[in-house]
Amino acid sequence: MSRSLVTGGAGFVGSHLVDRLLARGDEVVALDNFYTGRADNIAHLRGHARFRLVEHDVIGPLPTTGEMAGRFDRIFNLACPASPPAYQRDAVYTTKTSFLGTLHALERAEADGARLLQASTSEIYGDPEEHPQRESYRGAVNTLGPRACYDEGKRVAESLCMDFRRQHGVDARLVRIFNTYGPRMDPADGRVVSNFIVQALAGEPLTIFGDGKQTRSFCFVDDLVTGFLALMDHPTEHGPVNLGNDGEFTMLELAELVLELTASRSEIVWRDRPTDDPMQRRPDLGLARSRLGFQHTVPLRAGLERTIAYFRTQRVVAQGAPRESRP
Ligand code: NAD
Ligand code: UDP
Repeated sequence: MSRSLVTGGAGFVGSHLVDRLLARGDEVVALDNFYTGRADNIAHLRGHARFRLVEHDVIGPLPTTGEMAGRFDRIFNLACPASPPAYQRDAVYTTKTSFLGTLHALERAEADGARLLQASTSEIYGDPEEHPQRESYRGAVNTLGPRACYDEGKRVAESLCMDFRRQHGVDARLVRIFNTYGPRMDPADGRVVSNFIVQALAGEPLTIFGDGKQTRSFCFVDDLVTGFLALMDHPTEHGPVNLGNDGEFTMLELAELVLELTASRSEIVWRDRPTDDPMQRRPDLGLARSRLGFQHTVPLRAGLERTIAYFRTQRVVAQGAPRESRP
């Protein structure tokens, strides 16, 4: 049996990862401070014999007593707010979480001799001049802008992982995650998929930022978790490797698809495009395919149907969508 630590384990992606690790027989500790995560995401695991929750802020060194005593085989480092409004709410805290959280996870990996997976992001490519984005692309991040707390935080986290590999022999592995969606997204976290679905179900206008021609490539969460495990199970590959779905859609196309699938009569309203909002984004998945055998299996329409079904069960829909979706 393998023992895994998932920082950010009460979050959207983290909670799905925890489920998959438990399903294959792992012992799992989820560590989270509920900054953007939710108790509901892991409520179904209460009382599970192989699951433990530790409430802790990764800005501080990881505890070594109680549920955190004993060695971990694998550490998945996901703790970090991921939605632009959430990570810009307290930008300094976001940078600290990314830098110090990754440092502490790596120190624990070194002490335990654990393999570590770092949840990096397509945001390290910034507003990319190369399209689609390959892992060799070094990116175009505005270090001075409001997204930099997240982008630069994730970039230094990648550097730390490489330095712990070279200096301390830690088996750190990097995945660059492209926009991922699915059940358990926080209805109020402000990302485009959750915003559009919540707005459509509440009969409120869908807010498109800018002219709606900017693109994203949306990956269903189950496919992403499959990619995580493929990298962690691989004998030697350590990335960085892009993970996502390479179907590419404009935000206007996404809005129209959500309206169709929810049978909503909401109108579309146009809002200012946020500063430094990337204009286009699509992963080159060549490395993921050839080295990990990665293949996404859930097309956007099917994934949205499953996500919409989830949001229909959420109380926030009955109360109305968040009106102000930006910081
Ligand atoms: P999320 O906000 O749902 O999850 C993040 C989790 O980290 C939450 O449970 C939150 O409470 C926890 N957390 C934040 N700061 C913390 C701190 N200081 N100490 C302890 N816990 C803390 O977001 P998500 O979409 O599940 O993202 C998970 C990871 O994947 C993040 O690292 C994110 O940067 C990365 N990622 C996600 C996407 C995506 O599209 N979902 C894309 C790229 C990268
Ligand atoms: N967006 C939008 N309406 C919203 C929320 C976001 O048009 O209500 C746009 C946003 O400007 C961006 C895209 O959708 O161009 C994806 O935004 P999201 O916050 O989901 O992720 P990220 O920008 O980090 O890729």
